[in-house]
Amino acid sequence: MLRIGCHLSSSKGFLEMAKTARSIGASTFQYFTRNPRGGAAKEWRKEDIEAMLEFFGQTGIGKPLAHAPYTINACAKEERTRQFALETLADDIRRLEMLPDALYNFHPGSHVGQGAEAGIELIADALNQVLKPEQHTTVLLETMAGKGTEVGRTFEELRGIIDKVELSDKIGVCMDTCHIWDGGYDIAERLDDVIKEFDNVIGLSRLKAVHINDSMNPCGAHKDRHQKIGQGYIGKEAFGRIINHPALRELPFYLETPNELDGYQAEIAMLSEMAYCDCGGAAD
Ligand code: FE
Ligand code: FE
Ligand code: ZN
Repeated sequence: MLRIGCHLSSSKGFLEMAKTARSIGASTFQYFTRNPRGGAAKEWRKEDIEAMLEFFGQTGIGKPLAHAPYTINACAKEERTRQFALETLADDIRRLEMLPDALYNFHPGSHVGQGAEAGIELIADALNQVLKPEQHTTVLLETMAGKGTEVGRTFEELRGIIDKVELSDKIGVCMDTCHIWDGGYDIAERLDDVIKEFDNVIGLSRLKAVHINDSMNPCGAHKDRHQKIGQGYIGKEAFGRIINHPALRELPFYLETPNELDGYQAEIAMLSEMAYCDCGGAAD
């Protein structure tokens, strides 16, 4: 069964997010670990998390994906900015240990002119400082569009980071369809080739989540402007192939399209209809 959800506001806590997901037909969701505009993070309430997990058991909702604030930069030029990223990552990982086997996604960073090699080095260095052998959280590197000096614009750059991380069993990848499309991977015409390339360069066992977004720009534009599913350059048919691809179909999918809840609900319904049922044929 297709596990799909969308990004939700975390302001009312975990149980409320799970209930909101349920109300729009989602079976998973993504949330920010803290206010992306900064400030100290709230401590999470154990009772709230327990209530969410009970709700998961009753409804089949699961695999919530935590997203780090996109404002942190683990490969900034300024030591102070890097230190802030490190503290944020460490504090998020600490709090995420309250959840069973959490998934925690972050943007690797922007090298701001230092070059991709230096960026990769700094990002791996940050991960080597925050990852703990005993942690149950898997940290996901998000594939990036290559806007500005973003690191992670190619599968090779992500592989470069992973290769330098000592506790690399704690590292996975979240594939953002808008980002890889903007990065130059043609998932509309050559999905199979792109998946094979991912497998050759990174390994499919690292792939833990998919951000499912259409793009406002053509393949290779390096822009990172998300569009509603079927209204962008990737197109609806391609998303049918993406959600049903044997290498992807068991993964959780998270929408980050420009929508309010009713728009997300409609996209979830549309994609669920496009998913093949478990019996092997099309759903109807
Ligand atoms: Fe992201
Ligand atoms: Fe994303
Ligand atoms: Zn994006």
